[in-house]
Amino acid sequence: MVDHHELITRCRELYEDLSFNYVKEWEGKSGGKAIGIFPIYVPKEILYAAGMLPVELYGGGDILDVVKGDSYYQSYICHIPRSTLDLGLTGRLDEFEGIICPFTCDVVRNFTGVWKLLFPNKYSRFFDQPQATSLEIAIDYFVAQCKEILSELEPITGQKATVERLNTAIELYNENRRLIRKLYDMRAEQPWQIPTTEVYLLMRAGNVLEVSEYNQWLKDYMAAVGQLERNPEDKVRVVVSGAFCEQPSVSLIRAMELSGCYIVDDDFILGNRYLDEDVKVTDDPLRALAEAYFSSQVPSSCRFEGYDPKTRRLVQQVRERRAEGVIFAAPSFCDPALEDRPYHQKGLDQENIRYISLQYAEDTAQFGAIREQIGTFTDSIKLWEVA
Ligand code: SF4
Repeated sequence: MVDHHELITRCRELYEDLSFNYVKEWEGKSGGKAIGIFPIYVPKEILYAAGMLPVELYGGGDILDVVKGDSYYQSYICHIPRSTLDLGLTGRLDEFEGIICPFTCDVVRNFTGVWKLLFPNKYSRFFDQPQATSLEIAIDYFVAQCKEILSELEPITGQKATVERLNTAIELYNENRRLIRKLYDMRAEQPWQIPTTEVYLLMRAGNVLEVSEYNQWLKDYMAAVGQLERNPEDKVRVVVSGAFCEQPSVSLIRAMELSGCYIVDDDFILGNRYLDEDVKVTDDPLRALAEAYFSSQVPSSCRFEGYDPKTRRLVQQVRERRAEGVIFAAPSFCDPALEDRPYHQKGLDQENIRYISLQYAEDTAQFGAIREQIGTFTDSIKLWEVA
């Protein structure tokens, strides 16, 4: 059996490696090409089927001092586009063929153009997900977008995304989503056994790893962690909401846990579980991906669908995970997350669910105030219960 400590150490090494040595090794071994994708959702299946390694880029975190990227963006937007640009400008993304940006928000959409201007010889693509849902025309549009991307990438890799290859990719990513769902369920059952710091490092490893290798890491972790003897502590069960795009550092998550929380659900790196059901394996896999995008996509701040479904989902998460409160943790200047927050808060008020709100940047390094705030929040929940 794989050693638990060793596995988490490897995850942390991947998390800290902004030179993407894994990507270089994968390209050397496979002869394939890597492509960067911006959060939060691009159907990785089509990229994989075209012989590419899809790598989700989450900026420089708290590891990179942004020097050049800042000069291309105003100060009043979030941090992730600046540090991602810095990765490119400092040569750390040289191994990548280019980048695909989905319709997450205006910042991400515009990132495609900035990238194109700065790296004219690199591939650059805006994946324009239709915002209208439940419409046949939207499914056709989604499929057309996938076909366009494939027509551009297949000549680069020399690999055709056949029906068979697409279905193989769909099966691998279905398995991946199932394993992640299982891991999240296990954590909610025994959060002392499966701390979020470890879950998060595993999720971050999945941003880079080839999917079948990542699936094995997930299985290894779940098998290994079950052998450990860890004891429950007197902590408050919380759901973290709002951190779906720019990511908090692992130290911030650790600080939340040390403040007296068991995180029993979250929306960190939401793209890896954006579909909450299997994509069907059919003789029209692009259509199956499009249908899954509309029928089983989780509500998120990155798509307009009114506020009710998103707030309902949050309340449902709290109820199903037996959480006692919500931590709204959003990146500074993240319009999608911060615009939804008042509606979520109203919904939680109506359900008598307690919450606390904070903002972070990916390179936030001072946790004293955050620990005090969350510690007070968890104490108040405990006191309220006693009263
Ligand atoms: S953190 Fe928010 S505002 Fe920034 S790119 Fe992501 S979704 Fe857009």
